[in-house]
Amino acid sequence: MGKIITLFNLLPKFHQIALSVLICTLLFVVLIFPHGEKTTQRSALNNGEYALNTRYTVDINGTKKPAQSASLVHSTSKKRQQENASVNSHSLIQAKHDLSPIKLTTVEAQYQTEEFTVKKGDTLASLFKRAGLSSKDVYDITLLPNVKTNLLKILPGEEIIIAKDQAGMLVQLHYPLDPIRTLIINKNKDHYIEKITSKKVKYNQKFASAIIKTNFWNAGISASLTPNQIMQLATLFGWDIDFALDLRKDDSFSILFEKKYADGQFLKNGHILAAEFINQGERYTAIRYTDGHYYSEEGRSMRKDFLRSPVDFKYVSSRFNPRRLHPVTGQVKAHRGVDYVAAIGTPIKAAGKGRVIKSSYNKYNGNYVFIKHNDTYTTKYLHLKKRKVKTGQTVKQGDIIGTLGATGRITGPHLHYEFIVNGVHRNPRTIKLPKSKPIASQEKAQFLSLSQRVMATLEQNKQVQLAYRD
Ligand SMILES: [Zn+2]
Repeated sequence: MGKIITLFNLLPKFHQIALSVLICTLLFVVLIFPHGEKTTQRSALNNGEYALNTRYTVDINGTKKPAQSASLVHSTSKKRQQENASVNSHSLIQAKHDLSPIKLTTVEAQYQTEEFTVKKGDTLASLFKRAGLSSKDVYDITLLPNVKTNLLKILPGEEIIIAKDQAGMLVQLHYPLDPIRTLIINKNKDHYIEKITSKKVKYNQKFASAIIKTNFWNAGISASLTPNQIMQLATLFGWDIDFALDLRKDDSFSILFEKKYADGQFLKNGHILAAEFINQGERYTAIRYTDGHYYSEEGRSMRKDFLRSPVDFKYVSSRFNPRRLHPVTGQVKAHRGVDYVAAIGTPIKAAGKGRVIKSSYNKYNGNYVFIKHNDTYTTKYLHLKKRKVKTGQTVKQGDIIGTLGATGRITGPHLHYEFIVNGVHRNPRTIKLPKSKPIASQEKAQFLSLSQRVMATLEQNKQVQLAYRD
């Protein structure tokens, strides 16, 4: 420094004056410039919005120190970018003291978020305790209507997300009400507010088809159907086809069903929209209408007075066996009923609604049940292990009337089933039954247009699949 002064004194008078003016001008710029910069910063802060976890430059209320000004003397000759960096770094040191606490919370708030699984025996209070929240927090949020009806009834396995602030206070809570809706509780100053958000639900249509090679179940699995869908399909055609005994190799089916998505994520399979089943060359169709019921493509109800089989196919062990051996004599015999071979205990269903005219036991029939459906039709169920209905009782279609057994004069467990029309034994699997009810006439036009549309989609998909197979 001393050398600079000596050098200054050696300069001619004119130069000394000129240099002094220059230094004064520089100092003036230095003193004014930082104020200008800070004003810009302030307005940027006041007009803009804060984003979480982002550092911002904040204005300084304190007086400048000479050292800081000195550092800025150098920066005036450097690039503008570097200047800003310099201002920023010292501003942040000051900001810690000068920023109001509210601003600091807004800018630097960081929540601790944790997920809690509801355990057996948990209450909201015990879960909150585990989350380190106070009983006051529990009390405060139980004042909210949706907390009362939902969150106070938490179930084991459910998951609750809790966010706390740095002071350990509850600031947000997420509770999924179902796969689509979530209850969200937010802290708003001194109280809590609640809202329910919903994911966007979308349905896609999916096609599946298969040709039966070994049995219906395997065909369904090969077509990527779920066990539930396979059962639905059998139920849908259960009034027309005896799935236990009537299926043959090369029978086939095609279905169009919904897949449900929430926010683009697969949720579950929806309804079967349309289905076609080809059984021994006969074609059957089922279409779901807006009333939730199924009708054939020409608009007749799928539901009929009698099920083709009193035993669900999934219990029947035999595959394709058109030759039925009489269990006693071991000979093929045109006997007066149909035998279903399945495991002891298999549930047996009433083929139609009616009144139990006999529920009893004798040494030939074993445990047996007779149901009179009306003046024309009677069904009989023999060799039961257990009877689940009493004489005189009325039953609905599909009610379990007993379980398959091996009682009476037989060698192996099976159900002997008889179908009697006006006193004459008939084959329940081939008899022509009265046609089912048609769809209401005022719905018919609308149904037929829907039917044509979905069956066309089904057909197109079949053609595409056939093209890929070849
Ligand atoms: Zn028999």
